[in-house]
Amino acid sequence: MKYTDEFRNREIVQRLIREIHRVSKTPAAFMEVCGGHTHAIRKYGIPSLLPGNITLLSGPGCPVCVSSTRYVDQAIAYSRLPDVIIATFGDMIRIPGSTSSLDRERAEGRDIRIVWSALEAVKIARDNPSKKVILLAIGFETTAPATAAAVVHAYQMKTGNFYFFSAHKIMPPAMEALIDEGVRLDGYLAPGHVSTITGTEIYRNIPEKYGKACVVSGFEPVDILQSILMLVKQIEENRPGVEIQYKRVVKPEGNRAALQLMEEVYVLRDDWWRGLGMLPASGLGLRGKYARFDAEKEIEVEVEETIEPKGCICGEVLKGVKQPVECPLFGNACTPENPVGACMVSPEGACQAWYKFGNE
Ligand code: SF4
Repeated sequence: MKYTDEFRNREIVQRLIREIHRVSKTPAAFMEVCGGHTHAIRKYGIPSLLPGNITLLSGPGCPVCVSSTRYVDQAIAYSRLPDVIIATFGDMIRIPGSTSSLDRERAEGRDIRIVWSALEAVKIARDNPSKKVILLAIGFETTAPATAAAVVHAYQMKTGNFYFFSAHKIMPPAMEALIDEGVRLDGYLAPGHVSTITGTEIYRNIPEKYGKACVVSGFEPVDILQSILMLVKQIEENRPGVEIQYKRVVKPEGNRAALQLMEEVYVLRDDWWRGLGMLPASGLGLRGKYARFDAEKEIEVEVEETIEPKGCICGEVLKGVKQPVECPLFGNACTPENPVGACMVSPEGACQAWYKFGNE
């Protein structure tokens, strides 16, 4: 199959649904840890197509959702410095901080620019030599190579006024932490985009240490249903392993050039995840060679005391232990137009996906 239509083909979808219903006997909960999957699963109404013994859970797969309120507050504090330009990807701008957001700061005159690539931030720095340009570097292994390329470019071009404020995270520590915490799940629908970069070795612990199923999935209805069928078969045949459904994109060895670039630029560091707290070696900071671009080390700023949004249960939603509709603010005080918590801001956030597409 080569074209999108084939991955939405009604007959293939119906065949897969019938096969899942035929094979699935054991109650099982599968978690997706990719915001793209969260969005697609809700958009295509996948849960309503499955037998009642299969539950789908959304995990910590939306990058802006798992970033801390403290990170947002610090970005806001940087934006208030007189000689700073903030360069950010679009979703980040609406995430609520303790008392403000980047969107609100921009309306009040701070120089906050939305960029479509990390390299744009380097260009802004070169065009504005009297300013400090801080890139809000956010995302998992999917986006980390592109921001690493921007750091190398700034290094090569000797762009001394480019800074990097990292919230980059890697996925395996969070996947393992959820199981360690006792979240009830039987398998992971592993992230397709992350795996394109990393390959599949990073998931080895999921079956070998924890005995859970794991299938790397694509994003179309046929992809997701075929991945669920593969997960169901691993459970029913009691043979947990790591399999790739998304073979047209993901290779077991990943993308070697991207991995080398990440190795060149980043070091692992402990990082804080919304819902999961501080996880050892789960974030990416800059290596010594590139430390002069590190905003946290190079630009001093006072950050206000963190206040989490009252009543918001994003942390529990991101762990899959509560569903968005269990939040008392869902759909009334908290909507995509007026988000109270991070999970309602991005199309990849579970709360926004449930709000837009319903809970089936
Ligand atoms: S509905 Fe809004 S307030 Fe409630 S958990 Fe989701 S983002 Fe947070």
